[in-house]
Amino acid sequence: MQYNFPLSHSQLLELTQKHATPFHIYDESMIRGNAARLNRAFSWMPGFMNYFAVKALPNPFILRILKECGMGADCSSLAELVLAEKAGITGENIMFSSNNTPAEEFAAAGKLAAIINLDDISHIDFLEQVAGMPEIISFRYNPGPLKDGNVIIGNPEEAKYGLTRSQTIEAYRIAAEKGVRRFGLHTMVASNELNEEYHIETARILFELVVEISQKTGIRIEFVDLGGGYGVPYSPEAEELDLAKISQGIKSEYDRLIAANGLSPLRIVMENGRMITGPYGWLVARVRHLKHIYRDYAGLDASMANLMRPGMYGAYHHITVPGKDHLPHDHKYDVTGSLCENNDKFAVERMLPELEPGDLVVIHTTGAHGHAMGFNYNGQLRSSELLRRCDDSVVEIRRAETLEDHFATLDFARLKNF
Ligand SMILES: *Cc1c(COP(=O)(O)O)cnc(C)c1O
Repeated sequence: MQYNFPLSHSQLLELTQKHATPFHIYDESMIRGNAARLNRAFSWMPGFMNYFAVKALPNPFILRILKECGMGADCSSLAELVLAEKAGITGENIMFSSNNTPAEEFAAAGKLAAIINLDDISHIDFLEQVAGMPEIISFRYNPGPLKDGNVIIGNPEEAKYGLTRSQTIEAYRIAAEKGVRRFGLHTMVASNELNEEYHIETARILFELVVEISQKTGIRIEFVDLGGGYGVPYSPEAEELDLAKISQGIKSEYDRLIAANGLSPLRIVMENGRMITGPYGWLVARVRHLKHIYRDYAGLDASMANLMRPGMYGAYHHITVPGKDHLPHDHKYDVTGSLCENNDKFAVERMLPELEPGDLVVIHTTGAHGHAMGFNYNGQLRSSELLRRCDDSVVEIRRAETLEDHFATLDFARLKNF
């Protein structure tokens, strides 16, 4: 992994005069470059589009940039539908891939004319009742024992998502009887997967199912949605996915299964979130206290409330210390926040240059599932989000929370007569 924080030490010092730490900062030109790289790699695919998984970085300014890069939005809640609409992403450029979905969310997705991707066979009737049958529908297939698990998302057989194979085939029959005319097929079985073969296999499984659906029901599938789950290299040893290799692998399966069976053109779309923005976001924080007990601790002004991944999955996030990167990394620290939880650590026994209170640290690869997973436990306030634009200017795209925000749902006045 090549770490690519875009600001020099002096630019960062200048920025922190204007914007208090901690904050997440994203780089627009890197995100645009990466989106173009993805589109280029899959340009042979009929109607290729990545529906950006909004949950990875649910900020409408980022969604607007991604829309300009030709992306749609993959939404799974009412809030995410609202964000997509605010960013100007509407109609079939929204994929609504939710599970255990409430009625009002189906109604909202129906109103936006989003493509609705159903997670269960029983949702066909439910959708019909609460939003009416759409013209186009997709089903989420769970391959069960056909596919191996993956650390974050788990074994498909144990996963709550999707329909079984026989249910999937039956679901198209039912939907067609109810007047649906256009059909998609979806699966999502990986998360942060860096093995190219895994992604090629996912496409093959879907293509085979498209053939089976066509043979058994006569229904012609218009698109397959390969889901998201493309990994990014968090650690120094990990390597970026080879998109050309995935693309070629999928193309040969497409030619063999889809084109050869007269089922083309079949549109191929994806729902990647992490790989689109993950490597192009950073959490900038400052060392608050150093503490030397059985181990050495560097306490930051950020906490797990700003970045859950290390505490939640033991995930590695690279840490650099601007202005000290050239010094020997001969001090071993646990880098912590201030929550009353001992998993509130950004790194455990990490070798770093000697730290002092006030030092700035950059935590890398926080552009997906970073700020988004933030929470308010222990009265922690979520940080601001900044965007470095293509002209090098930096704008705030979300302000930091205040105590007032934090207490907005409490009415202290009522304590008087309580
Ligand atoms: C989370 C999710 C995605 C995106 O996953 P990434 O790992 O960010 O690529 C896509 N589709 C669905 C249905 C999801 O739940």
